[in-house]
Amino acid sequence: MNEDGKTVVCWMQRDVRTVDNWALLFAGHLAETQKVPLHVIHVLPPPPAQTQEESLPDLENLRLTQRHGEFYLGGLEIVHKELKEKNVPFHALRPLSQRLVSSTIESQIVQQLKPCAIVCDFSPLRHVRQWMEGGFLESCEKSSVPLWQVDAHNVVPVWHAADKRQVGARTLRPRIHKVVSDYLQKFPKFKGNEHVEKDQELQAYDSDALKSFLDWDESVASQKWAVPGSAAAKAKFESFISTGLSKFDSHRNDPNYTQICSGLSPWVNHGHISFQRLMMAIKKLNRYATGSASFIEEGLIRRELSDNFLFYTPDDYDKLTGAAQWAQDSLELHSTDQREYTYSLEELETSKTHDDLWNAAQMQVVNEGKMHGFLRMYWAKKILEWTESPAVALKTALYFNDKYALDGRDPNGFVGVGWSIMGIHDMGWKEREIFGKIRFMNYAGCKRKFKVADFVKRYKGAAENAAAAEAEHNRAKRGQKRKLTHS
Ligand SMILES: Cc1cc2nc3c(=O)[nH]c(=O)nc-3n(C[C@H](O)[C@H](O)[C@H](O)COP(=O)(O)OP(=O)(O)OC[C@H]3O[C@@H](n4cnc5c(N)ncnc54)[C@H](O)[C@@H]3O)c2cc1C
Repeated sequence: MNEDGKTVVCWMQRDVRTVDNWALLFAGHLAETQKVPLHVIHVLPPPPAQTQEESLPDLENLRLTQRHGEFYLGGLEIVHKELKEKNVPFHALRPLSQRLVSSTIESQIVQQLKPCAIVCDFSPLRHVRQWMEGGFLESCEKSSVPLWQVDAHNVVPVWHAADKRQVGARTLRPRIHKVVSDYLQKFPKFKGNEHVEKDQELQAYDSDALKSFLDWDESVASQKWAVPGSAAAKAKFESFISTGLSKFDSHRNDPNYTQICSGLSPWVNHGHISFQRLMMAIKKLNRYATGSASFIEEGLIRRELSDNFLFYTPDDYDKLTGAAQWAQDSLELHSTDQREYTYSLEELETSKTHDDLWNAAQMQVVNEGKMHGFLRMYWAKKILEWTESPAVALKTALYFNDKYALDGRDPNGFVGVGWSIMGIHDMGWKEREIFGKIRFMNYAGCKRKFKVADFVKRYKGAAENAAAAEAEHNRAKRGQKRKLTHS
């Protein structure tokens, strides 16, 4: 602790909530014991760097959309209000580039607020790690300000769950189950700045200034269903308990059941609710044993497996080189296989493929900001099948996922797409064209699982686009044949 310090700063980046937040609670505790005020900071995403026109941007340079922006800013506004009620100043920083994040915090926070300690939360996303672990850590060391990191997102902190990248759920599961009860501790109440005089200068929340800084892409509209904040998340969870939990294990893979999956991923990923809270509530409820076990498997094991993958694959989690060697070799071997169908980015984006189910799934995510979990697997695998190479498929699927899905821009997206396209956490399957040993999925398999036609019917244009694309494909094929016979 820097004994000359005048404040404690909590850098709240991933877990944007004032309740059930171990990083904030720890920072509050330090402030109370040091008898200094607590301040909270958050770094807004800097403007994206220009990428070459023909290449799709990485996540750190993907422009924010109105859909994400409104949900994100709404969450910050709620946190600002709740902190104000507890007399805690909130600073939303606006660095002008990725490179300037640490110097912005240094000049606007470290020099002005003179913290005796800084507590940050944790994210395995590369650019956020660079902010926290790069130049900023060094500058804290130079100014003798200790920087503590608390994983407020995972139930079991990622570095305690495992000390290396895990092969899959089967190796992470026993490690987590062995220690999880130690971490399911009751959350204390956040007291804010109760311990200091009410003489803080509390800034007003200038939503217009933040919005204009973010300069979001208005072509991807926000969604009425997406109400930000912990209260909305809690209400959603309660509705899931009454409509979905009992059948979660048996029905969650059927996209025609709209009330079975929790739909909570945007709130969990934006840190508006803690999965630990959900897990404790389910345990306390003590009903629907199989549904509850299945929900905990997804929300605890699968979700924390994603963070494990990114944390221990920091440079390659979004590249083919992040895959296991068998998958890299197999994809490479089949990268030049003949593709029966190939589509441009635009054709894919506007749902113009010959596959009505795929078109419907794409319309779901583009128009509604979410795609059913089962369809996500099928959707990404078809992108592998219909683009010119696995590298293009990976970039394209990540781009759509992060542009349109409100729960995107999260480790789960990298791992979900990685599982589908490059076999992350999966095993090798029977070798076939294009896919190599990557697990294959097809339309007939979907038809065996659920009523495909019922799902497609919900999306106007999905079937019509498919018929038009198939007709065009057949025309082109006939033309090709004619050319061959004449030559
Ligand atoms: C191609 C592809 C892309 C994906 N992209 C994302 C993404 O961008 N963001 C995202 O959060 N998830 C993603 N997933 C994982 C999964 O599909 C979603 O987490 C889930 O559909 C979210 O809906 P829900 O909240 O109703 O989940 P529920 O079925 O109600 O599950 C409860 C919670 O468990 C977690 N969870 C569920 N399934 C998974 C899974 N397979 N892996 C990790 N955690 C899981 C989520 O936090 C979820 O909110 C992707 C999966 C695939 C195959």
